[in-house]
Amino acid sequence: MSPLEPGLYIVATPIGNLGDLSPRAADILSRADVIAVEDSRVTAGLLRHIGAKRPMVPYHDHNAEGVRPGLIARMATEAVALVSDAGTPLISDPGYKLVRDARAAGHAVVTIPGPCAAVAALTLAGLPTDRFLFLGFLPPKEKARADAIAEVAAVRATLVLYESGPRLGACLATLAAVLGDREAAVTREISKRFEEAVTGTLAMLADRYAEAPPKGEIVVVVAPPGEAPPASVEEGDAALAEALTRLPAAKAAGEVAKRLGLDRKALYARALAMKAGGSA
Ligand code: SAM
Repeated sequence: MSPLEPGLYIVATPIGNLGDLSPRAADILSRADVIAVEDSRVTAGLLRHIGAKRPMVPYHDHNAEGVRPGLIARMATEAVALVSDAGTPLISDPGYKLVRDARAAGHAVVTIPGPCAAVAALTLAGLPTDRFLFLGFLPPKEKARADAIAEVAAVRATLVLYESGPRLGACLATLAAVLGDREAAVTREISKRFEEAVTGTLAMLADRYAEAPPKGEIVVVVAPPGEAPPASVEEGDAALAEALTRLPAAKAAGEVAKRLGLDRKALYARALAMKAGGSA
C-alpha cells in the first residue's frame, strides 16, 4: 500500500449502516499513519470492518489542548486522519481547532466527505432545504434553551438541531412555545434498522413525545416561519382581548399564540396585565 502524502485528513464515518463508509474513506483510514479518534473502541470496530489496523490517538474535548501540538507536529511528515465516533468530524464534534492549527502550520488539509446526521435528517423531513440553520445541541436548561430559540425565531430558514430522547419532549414544547406552531419532523435512528421520520406541527410532536421519550439518536427539523408577516402588537392585543372574554389567561394566550404565530409566554404576561388593568 503506497503511503499517503503528509497532512491532515478529515474522514466522515457512518452514522448507522457501515455500508455508508465510502471506499475513499476506507482507503484513507487503511493508509493513515495515525488516526485521531474520539473513542478508540468505536474506531477499532470500524477498522475491523474494513480489515485495517492503524495506530490511534485519542482526541476529544477533555484532552484536545494537550494532544493537538503533537498531532500538528506529526503532520509535517505523516498522514494524520481525524474521525469522530460517527458522522462528520467538526459537526457538533471536536476538530475545528485541529484544522485551524494545521493550516496555520502550513500542512495540507484534505476532507473525505460522507455521512452527517444533520444533512441526512434534512433529506428525510420534507421541509424546505434551500436555507437551513444548524443549531447543534440546544442548552439543556429550559430558560437558556428558550433564549437560544428566541434568538433565531425570526430567521427565515429551516432549523436543524440535535437532541437526546429523554429531553425531546421538553425541547419540542419549548420550540412550540417560542416559535408558534410550525411544521416539524423528528428523525430518529437514521441509516439504522429502525430509521423513522415523524412529521407534524411542533405542538402535536411535543404532545406525542411528552410522556414517551423515544430511544436512539435524534435530529429535529423545524420549518421556517410562515410567509405571512408577524402579527402586530395591536393585532395581538385585539385578539387577546377577545379571547379573554371566553377563556382564562393561559388558554387565551395559548390560542392567540397558535393562531397568530406569536410568543405564548409574552402573550400570557400581556393577558395578565390586561386583566389587572381591567382592559379585558
Ligand atoms: N458529527 C456527527 C454528524 O456528523 O452528524 C454528530 C455528532 S453529535 C455528538 C451526535 C448527535 O448527532 C446525536 O446525539 C444525534 O442527535 C445526531 N445523530 C448522530 N447519528 C444519528 C443517527 N443515526 N440518527 C439520528 N441522529 C443522529
